[in-house]
Amino acid sequence: MRVLILGGSREARELAAATSGERGLEIVSSLAGRVRDPHLPEGQVRIGGFGGTEKLRDWLAAEDIGAVVNATHPFAARIGANTAVATAALGIPLLRILRPAWSEQPGDRWTRVADLDAAARALTEFGDRVFLTIGRQGVGAFAGLTRQWFLIRAIDPPDGALPPKHELLLTRGPFAVDDEIALLSDRRIDVLVTKDSGGDQTEAKLVAARAAGLPVVVVDRPALPEGVTAVETAEQAREWLLRTAVRSDQDSTR
Ligand code: NAP
Repeated sequence: MRVLILGGSREARELAAATSGERGLEIVSSLAGRVRDPHLPEGQVRIGGFGGTEKLRDWLAAEDIGAVVNATHPFAARIGANTAVATAALGIPLLRILRPAWSEQPGDRWTRVADLDAAARALTEFGDRVFLTIGRQGVGAFAGLTRQWFLIRAIDPPDGALPPKHELLLTRGPFAVDDEIALLSDRRIDVLVTKDSGGDQTEAKLVAARAAGLPVVVVDRPALPEGVTAVETAEQAREWLLRTAVRSDQDSTR
């Protein structure tokens, strides 16, 4: 069975590594091509968008894909919606990997908001020095804020408009708690803004904010498309793939 793994996350690389040599599975990983120097998954890789839902559907049919695992980042909503529609049209089984969301711990001062625009609005309540750790995309939501100074951290430079007062810090995690505490103190940060990405790769900033008693604006995840089943780990997705391959084999020999 040919399998498409939609990647761009650690779980996607773990799944590709765990299933690449598996008998009966042929894995193709797909990356959007956003990061200049991506961590490549093991095995076959294609890079770049498909060109929308219909082109994705045509690609899945032409490549004879028997199952899709959407292991993109929890905030990659568009590819998730496109994939749900394309796989449903073709009757291809689809699974989502969604690592557990972060949860507030004693000592945390979190404000949860629905999206980046709401995060920008929420900032009126806090101090002037903002640590923006939402990645490269979506920084434009903060471009109109002229009062605050922003420390913007991302792997690659954000595109589009930026807030007038800012410093750009281009670096890739994981980050250590002590380094995060030092950064908050050095830049005299008043408030942190983050997406609820979950996982331990970038969690240190939340531990640091707790230690420093700083408020955090946490952007909630987009909703899962209706009818899509999700698991939390690459291992659960591997088990699902093996079961799906057996079923597909039984169907084809019937
Ligand atoms: P998105 O808004 O859901 O997708 C935008 C478009 O990018 C999609 O319509 C699709 O283009 C293309 N695309 C996205 N993921 C793809 C993949 N794995 N393979 C091929 N095409 C893909 O996604 P995004 O937020 O731009 O994220 C893009 C990639 O960066 C994802 O792979 C995601 O895992 C990774 N990432 C995202 C975030 C984040 O915060 N959003 C953080 C870390 C990593 P077409 O319509 O042309 O097919």
